[in-house]
Amino acid sequence: MNILILGSGGREHALAWAVLQNPKCDRLIVAPGNAGIAQIAECPSLDILDGDAVAGFCAENAVDLVIIGPEAPLAAGVADTLRAAGIAAFGPSAAAARLEASKSFTKEICDACNAPTAGYAHFTDAEAAKVHIRAEGAPIVVKADGLAAGKGVIVAMNEATALAAIDDMFSGEFGAAGAEVVIEEFMTGEEASFFVLCDGETALPVGTAQDHKRAFDGDEGPNTGGMGAYSPAPVLTDAIAQKTMDEIVNPTIVEMARRGTPYQGVLYVGLMIENGQPRLVEYNVRFGDPECQVLMMRLGAQALDLMQACAEGRLDEMQVNWANDHAMTVVMAAKGYPGPYEKGSVINGLDDLPEDSAHMVFHAGTTERDGRITASGGRVLNVTARGATLAEARDRAYAMIDRIDWPEGFNRSDIGWRALT
Ligand code: ATP
Repeated sequence: MNILILGSGGREHALAWAVLQNPKCDRLIVAPGNAGIAQIAECPSLDILDGDAVAGFCAENAVDLVIIGPEAPLAAGVADTLRAAGIAAFGPSAAAARLEASKSFTKEICDACNAPTAGYAHFTDAEAAKVHIRAEGAPIVVKADGLAAGKGVIVAMNEATALAAIDDMFSGEFGAAGAEVVIEEFMTGEEASFFVLCDGETALPVGTAQDHKRAFDGDEGPNTGGMGAYSPAPVLTDAIAQKTMDEIVNPTIVEMARRGTPYQGVLYVGLMIENGQPRLVEYNVRFGDPECQVLMMRLGAQALDLMQACAEGRLDEMQVNWANDHAMTVVMAAKGYPGPYEKGSVINGLDDLPEDSAHMVFHAGTTERDGRITASGGRVLNVTARGATLAEARDRAYAMIDRIDWPEGFNRSDIGWRALT
């Protein structure tokens, strides 16, 4: 098979690594890729938001399957264009991608299928939103409706913060994403992520994970894209996973199909769990980054079979072969991230690290210059390991970090603390 992966982060490096474990893969192309991906795949330049350009590339290169990593090409309808051209695509249509692109749409779906989630109201008028906040009181959560790169959510512990968030969102700062706001009940509990492949009709769970959003140890500091993850997430027990399938995922899949917009791709189910009850925080329409890295490390070669079956509507034939293992990824970021940071510093020591089914360094923001790997983004490396226990996976990941020589980088030293204490 010839396979094209769209994207350029640690998520896509992990997808590429897993795809290559499978002997079915004859040719692997990742566009645009990064310096780490370029060591294992062809990385042509291609406008991945332009569905016609991607479909044309697939025709010229006899691509059998396109795996779409990030949300932007999904929201732009690249999967629709590919399917219309008869090319198998792993990723939802633009209409189904609204489950991530519009928070009020997701709430509407939850209402229609009775899926447990935070109570909410939505507003296009700032004054009406403020009246609602004053009536409900704090804590309360204010969200811009559309995609705002993780910056459109304010968990307000007091009323003044919530009212200020309304002013910010209607100020135009968030563009179209802030023209509508969703105001939610504040939920308490423990968060975890649940990943499910869906082919429009059948839904198949492919793993659980927990992310670490804050920049520094002890969950201190600013929010980031994610500083590390591990899988499985012990809080998501089999019983809670089953409840999530029965009460949230399957009803959503049925409702999306009923509306004529079946969901095909991976559904990232962000949950808040309290007293054995899962409630939906959010859907994303792609693998999380860095959660994908730990899922791919655990799934290995079968990830390609599963994604192909998902794209071809054959998930009912599939099952996941679970190993009784654990995986952890620790993100190394450029000092200063998520604020301003320097680019161009050289990273040494990567060549001597083990690369096998228990040890991988996935690249996120890297570029090759004169034969050397340099940092070119905020989140730069995803040091990932597998083990029989989470402690073993952690020890292996941090042992690799100790051997990476990159003084301009930093990482959290407590990834996995919730599950390990
Ligand atoms: P992400 O970057 O995770 O995709 P997002 O912009 O899509 O973020 P959400 O996932 O909806 O936003 O919210 C971000 C975070 O805010 C959640 O992970 C959770 O910690 C917190 N949060 C969101 N909604 C609620 C809620 N109703 N109650 C409590 N906390 C919440």
